[in-house]
Amino acid sequence: MQVCGAASLPVPAVDVDVTARGRQAGLMEVDSILYHGDPAAAKLVAVEYRVGVKAAVLENVLPEVGLQLLWSDSFYPSVSNVELLEGVRCAGLARMVPEARHWLFYNETALTEVERGDGILPGIQRAGGRAGAMLSTAELERIFSTQVMPAQLERSTRVCYWSVWRQVLTFGLAHGRMDRLLPMELGELKALIMEFMMLGVSAGSMKNVLSAIEHRHRLAGMVPPLVERLAFKRIMKAVSSVSGTPSRLRFPIGSHHLWKLMRLSYPSLMERQVILIVCTGTVCCSRVVELANMQTCDLLWGHDGAFMVELAGALAIRIYKRKQDTGRFGLYVRIVAGLLLELLRAYVAEWGLRKDARCTKDTKRGARCPYCDPLFPRLRGGRSTPALRQGREPLVPMSRQQISGAVKVALESIGVDARHYSGISMRRGGITAAVQAKVSEPILYLQSGHGTAMAGRRYVDPVDPRILYDTSNAILGMEPR
Ligand SMILES: [Zn+2]
Repeated sequence: MQVCGAASLPVPAVDVDVTARGRQAGLMEVDSILYHGDPAAAKLVAVEYRVGVKAAVLENVLPEVGLQLLWSDSFYPSVSNVELLEGVRCAGLARMVPEARHWLFYNETALTEVERGDGILPGIQRAGGRAGAMLSTAELERIFSTQVMPAQLERSTRVCYWSVWRQVLTFGLAHGRMDRLLPMELGELKALIMEFMMLGVSAGSMKNVLSAIEHRHRLAGMVPPLVERLAFKRIMKAVSSVSGTPSRLRFPIGSHHLWKLMRLSYPSLMERQVILIVCTGTVCCSRVVELANMQTCDLLWGHDGAFMVELAGALAIRIYKRKQDTGRFGLYVRIVAGLLLELLRAYVAEWGLRKDARCTKDTKRGARCPYCDPLFPRLRGGRSTPALRQGREPLVPMSRQQISGAVKVALESIGVDARHYSGISMRRGGITAAVQAKVSEPILYLQSGHGTAMAGRRYVDPVDPRILYDTSNAILGMEPR
């Protein structure tokens, strides 16, 4: 155990004595700080501290507000219904101008009306206005700012930033310093990072916290605390260096899995869907969201037949929206003729998945088609009845969670322990297999949709474990594999 002098926490808003030495150095010194090397003691301290943060929040807000607060389950405590505090004058909020307070609680997680069109712009007009009436430049600017600009971040990123920003707000509440959050000074940020680390926030999550703080400043038109060149990198390096960022074990799906799946005898209708999700997803190096987005009109059978007649039996799948393809140029991943395509064709017919006559993909290739069926619709109430009915609405696509779940179901159906696999295993599997087969990077990236040459390597970790034996095999002179 070591004893050192430094600032004390977590008591909010206490007056501190400035020692002579501290005053000279420009530092404030309060009590001595204890450092517990014993992991069990450290854990206990964190647990008690977490309770202390919640207690400080309740102390700093009015009792009737405190009773209504809901807490999210996160390492750093987080109030989930922060909108309650918008009109409240406590914890430093009274010292803020309304403009800054607005940005403190501004929530941009919902899809905007324009985003809802998923590539197709809605008709926009003033309520009660006559047909053809122009909008003022002020109105146009407001519509652009609130409807289009949020799309600079993917919605999932906005949801993530909002969830960590609520932790930042909780930090401000607990310390009675809401007015110091926006704009935030570097010193305040360092205090926040320290407290977050002490409560077990990982270095990976800390990156999100810093990004969320930076994004919030840009939204409000303010200068972020880490604006200085490399400031972000330096802080992250220090945080990662003391806490470590080990990656979770996630295996890629291998071709041996795919063949077992495709040759499964007598699979049920639901199993057939699960098999096709995993096989198609792996071959296309897909993210789960891309599989959820796939529609029947994205299947372009015999796409390359006009180039070479031998390719007439192959398939191109249009990925109309991919993370790296922010401009929605569209990407056409290819699948060779064979068992997978036979199964896919049979599945589409059996499920009665339709391409509608009103399909919009010919004119709007970068947009979701509002009329055609998703390739992987969810089963209604667990009943596995194909929707062959005429004149029906398009089916509802599976959610991202359901697609991830399908990966586990598929692997379990061939007797694999699915704990170390998830939705990401498909993308990893496709890229890993391609790298091992020595597909050249530029060609692989056309299938995987990586804009920059290096980004794909991230997915080759952990690689197929077999190649990790190559080094010891080489040294020990054993038969390779
Ligand atoms: Zn369509």
